[in-house]
Parts: sequence; structure tokens; C-alpha cells
Amino acid sequence: MTKEVNTMYDVIVIGAGPSGMFAALTAAKQGKNVLLIEKNEDVGKKMRITGGGRCNITNFKDTNEFISSLPTRNGRFLYSSLNNFNPYDIYYFFESIGVPLKIEPDDKVFPVSDQSMDFIHALKKEMNTHHVTIKCNTEVLNLKLMEDHKRVITKQEIYDTKNLVIATGGKSYPHTGSSGQGHEFGIKANHTLTELFPTETPLISNDPIIASKRLQGLSFKEVQLSLLNQDNQIVKSHLHDLIFTHFGLSGPAALKLSQFVYHHLQEHRVAHVALDVLPNETNLSIIDEIKSRRQESPNKKIKNVLSNLSQSRYLEFLYEHLTINQEQKIANMSNNQIDDFVQAIKGLVINIHDVRPIKNAFVTGGGISLDEINPKTMESKLIPGLYFIGEVLDLHGYTGGYNMTIALSTGYTAGISIQ
Ligand SMILES: Cc1cc2nc3c(=O)[nH]c(=O)nc-3n(C[C@H](O)[C@H](O)[C@H](O)COP(=O)(O)OP(=O)(O)OC[C@H]3O[C@@H](n4cnc5c(N)ncnc54)[C@H](O)[C@@H]3O)c2cc1C
Repeated sequence: MTKEVNTMYDVIVIGAGPSGMFAALTAAKQGKNVLLIEKNEDVGKKMRITGGGRCNITNFKDTNEFISSLPTRNGRFLYSSLNNFNPYDIYYFFESIGVPLKIEPDDKVFPVSDQSMDFIHALKKEMNTHHVTIKCNTEVLNLKLMEDHKRVITKQEIYDTKNLVIATGGKSYPHTGSSGQGHEFGIKANHTLTELFPTETPLISNDPIIASKRLQGLSFKEVQLSLLNQDNQIVKSHLHDLIFTHFGLSGPAALKLSQFVYHHLQEHRVAHVALDVLPNETNLSIIDEIKSRRQESPNKKIKNVLSNLSQSRYLEFLYEHLTINQEQKIANMSNNQIDDFVQAIKGLVINIHDVRPIKNAFVTGGGISLDEINPKTMESKLIPGLYFIGEVLDLHGYTGGYNMTIALSTGYTAGISIQ
């Protein structure tokens, strides 16, 4: 039997991820009576596993740089919210509540302790100080959106509120609680849900290069991975680390490219990606270098002369792939073989047939359409008093602290905007 709770809250927030916790805390600091509802046994279940358990909380950039680093034009929606609360504010906020931070390469911000739980403990403590009521183990099943107030129906109880914030996340890693219920609530409220797609997800290949498992486990630092079009021209490139897995490619370069590969695969059976393991050298400079080594030490073996160009396991694979006998003297390596070798080391083409699905992706692309949300407040343009924040929206960033920033900044903006 569902019980009605006779309190009219100023704000109810559904979902205690980073966006929901931050909206709840910010609204409570404005003097609002706030209820935060979470279906898991505790808050921040996904946040706990982010950044490999370290949580990359933000990317230390100013607003313009941050927005220009996002993969889609939708990022412009964030100008107002980042104006309210940007990566620098995130940094100083967490330091001020007792979580010392450090900035790692690529402007990634982590806690000095390398423990994501520190953020969660600190946020819980702050919410407690500011009297946010937190109800865990409570799943919101339905909503009734009336003109003067909103009704939130859970299995156990019914709650009434003047303002309702939907902070239920996307559909990635559903075991953490983000299972797409917020999208359904949005649709029922006449909001448009844009196409959902996996982003920041590994690439799957049936190519013999992968199927042979020759390269499984091999990892590279700072290589360039590019998506090619039908004319073998580069459509999109990312320079980052990469790892060969048993099913394809993973690591930041593959994850960053994945949304473009996904969209390519919507129209084509296969996507060609090219791997350049020497991105700072031109083809010509490597060809010249090999030829001059050939002239200087003609009697040395190919494998010895070229050994410094990449990892031996990768070079051995390339020789086999190109049927070059690495044991022969470099003097016997023809100009054509040198060209083929350099072509491969600067652009080994791997056929990609799929990407891991949304449930395995780090982030969900698509969501509640931004056209129907006021970017200054996060309030629905269709239903006053209804707000959407975080990954439930049609907003996403690359890995690197961008998604947590989107969650915190939109959460803050809703929190200060609620009247
Ligand atoms: C493995 C992994 C690592 C990541 N690492 C990083 C990183 O280091 N840095 C970064 O910036 N981003 C990272 N991300 C992305 C980031 O975690 C998300 O973008 C972010 O958590 C989104 O926050 P959110 O508050 O919108 O939603 P979520 O964190 O998904 O929280 C939504 C909450 O709503 C609750 N909920 C849903 N439906 C209901 C309902 N009906 N009733 C009650 N509660 C409900 C869920 O249980 C959940 O707790 C990572 C993602 C993954 C999967």
C-alpha cells in the first residue's frame, strides 16, 4: 500500500548521482526544503567507479576552451551553466569542503588521495549540514505533473513538491542505477528524446589483425587513430593512448573516436580506422631515415636497423603482415618494401564492424532534447517547475572530466535557479 507523505517540498531531486547531489545541495543552500530520492542503497554508485575508482572530477579549462573541447555543437548549450559554475569553481569548491585535488596531464583533475569516495563522503556531509533529506532504496515509478505542484510516486510513498529535478543519468552501466527511467519520465511529460547512442566505448573488429589475437594486450602511448571515409581520407582523428584487446581497440584514442565510428556504421557496413604509431614524423622523413640507414649499414639485419621505430612485437607483426623477412640484410629491403612498411607504421588500416553497446559505454549520447530546456536555468520550456540535469540531457563530453563537469555545472544551475 503506497502511503502519502503530507509534506510539500520546495524541491524533489530524482537520482543521487553527481548532478542530483549537486542540485539538491545548491537548492538547500538557498534555503529550500529538499528531498533527494535514490533507488540504490547509497548515493553516487556510478561516481564511485569513475576514473578507475579515482574520479576525474573535472578538466581544468576555462569556459570557452571547455566548450570547444566537446565533441558536438550541443556543447554551446552549456555557456550559461558554465558561467555559473565552471571547472575552476568545481576545483575550488571541492578543496573548500576538504577534498584536496591535483591536476594531471591533459588538465585532468583528481583527488590527491586517488579515492572517488572522498568526493561522495564530502558531498554527503555537506548535504547533511544543509539539511537535504536523502531517501535511498526508493525507486521513483511514476510522476504526476500538475499545474501548481508535482507528485512523485515511489513503491512505498507518494511525495508532493513545487519543483522537480530529473537527474537520473543516461543508460550506460545500468547496474549503477542509470537505466533510462528519466528518459521515460521526459517522454511522458511531452519532451522529445533524441536518438540514444553509445559514446566513449571500445571498438569491435572481426578483422584478421584482431581475430588472430597477435596484438592483444599491446598498448601504445600518444598514437593517432583516425576514422577514414570511403575515399580513405581522414574524417576524424584523436591523438591519445590505445590498447589492442581480444575483440578490437580500446583506450582513450578508441573511446574518443567511437561516437564517430558509431555514426559511420549507421550508414556503412564497415568503418576503416587507421593507426599511426609515429604521429610526430612524416612518411617522407621516415623513408629518408630508413634509406640513409640502409646506406650506412647495408649488412645489418632489417630487424636490428629498424628496431627503434616501435615496439618489437608490433614491428614483428608488421613484417609478417607485409611479408618482409626481418632476418634479411637491410640492403635487400627494396624501396617498395620501405614505402609499404612506412605506409603501415603511419596508417595500419583496421576494419571496425561495431562498437560496444550503450550498456558498456562510459557515456550515453543523446537524451532529452536541449531545444525544450532553458539553458539559463535547466527548467523545461514545456512544464514550469520541471528541471533536467546531467547525463539525462542530450549532452556529453569525451572522457577526461568533461561529463562530471556537465553533471555538476547543470546541477548547480538548476539548484540556484529554483524559486
Ligand atoms: C566506468 C565509468 C567511468 C567514468 N569515469 C568518469 C570520469 O572519471 N570523469 C567524468 O567526468 N565522467 C566519467 N564517467 C561519466 C560520468 O560518470 C557520468 O557522466 C555522470 O555520473 C553522470 O552523472 P548524473 O548525475 O547525470 O547521472 P548518474 O551518475 O548516472 O546518476 C543517476 C542516478 O539516478 C538514479 N536513478 C535513476 N533512475 C531512478 C529512479 N527511477 N528513482 C530513483 N533513482 C533513480 C540512479 O540510481 C543513479 O544513482 C564515467 C562513466 C563510467 C560508466
